[in-house]
Amino acid sequence: MKQEENSEAAKVRLGKEHKPNSYMYQEVGEKIVQRTNWALRRQKELPNNRRLFVLTCMDERVPIEQALGLEVGDAHVYRNAGGVVTDDVIRSAALSCNFFGSHEIIVVTHTECGMMSHFFHSGANMIMNYLEFHLGQKIDPGTIPLDPSLPELQLTGDVNRSFVKWIRMFRDTDAACLAQVQMLQDHPLIRKDVPVNGYVYEVESGALRLPYQRISDKVDTAQEMFAKGVWTNQPTTR
Ligand SMILES: [Zn+2]
Repeated sequence: MKQEENSEAAKVRLGKEHKPNSYMYQEVGEKIVQRTNWALRRQKELPNNRRLFVLTCMDERVPIEQALGLEVGDAHVYRNAGGVVTDDVIRSAALSCNFFGSHEIIVVTHTECGMMSHFFHSGANMIMNYLEFHLGQKIDPGTIPLDPSLPELQLTGDVNRSFVKWIRMFRDTDAACLAQVQMLQDHPLIRKDVPVNGYVYEVESGALRLPYQRISDKVDTAQEMFAKGVWTNQPTTR
């Protein structure tokens, strides 16, 4: 009887003394919690690690995770042709920021983007002709299902002109970047306390820069080196 009591007491003592002090037990427990939180992020309403939504181009030369220093799990990343705001970008950004905990939006366009091709300067007819040539048939932009799951979403008015706008080619990647930032900032489905910032990724240098702040433009001539504005942010020597 005495031995049984001792044995029960030992079990209790072991339970109390050994489990909390076992590092392996803690480690396994933490891993299980981490894995559970990872697998059930949306159910537990946990945001991505950086609470970030990123919009960028589908171009294969833009390593967006590397450029922004992102790891798996850090951000919601949306890529399309040009990295431009479309109805589905609005849908995704609004869901990310309002339902999934993102608190910040970054837009990244890039140099030598295919969306700045010569078609932009060729007009609506040229683009339509080129498309029809590749499709091997005539197309009517007024009846094209832009979103097959939402057939009521159709172009109206001057449908050829609207269709070309829908393709969203642009002339200048810096201007395009700022325009997308503005559209997201102004959109009623994006909260005003969500900061939206834009950068241009240079495929030629592999670096991000602010729009219209190409460093290589400021290093070639004395005029550029001493142009007003270059030195304004330099620390003063006292
Ligand atoms: Zn592109």
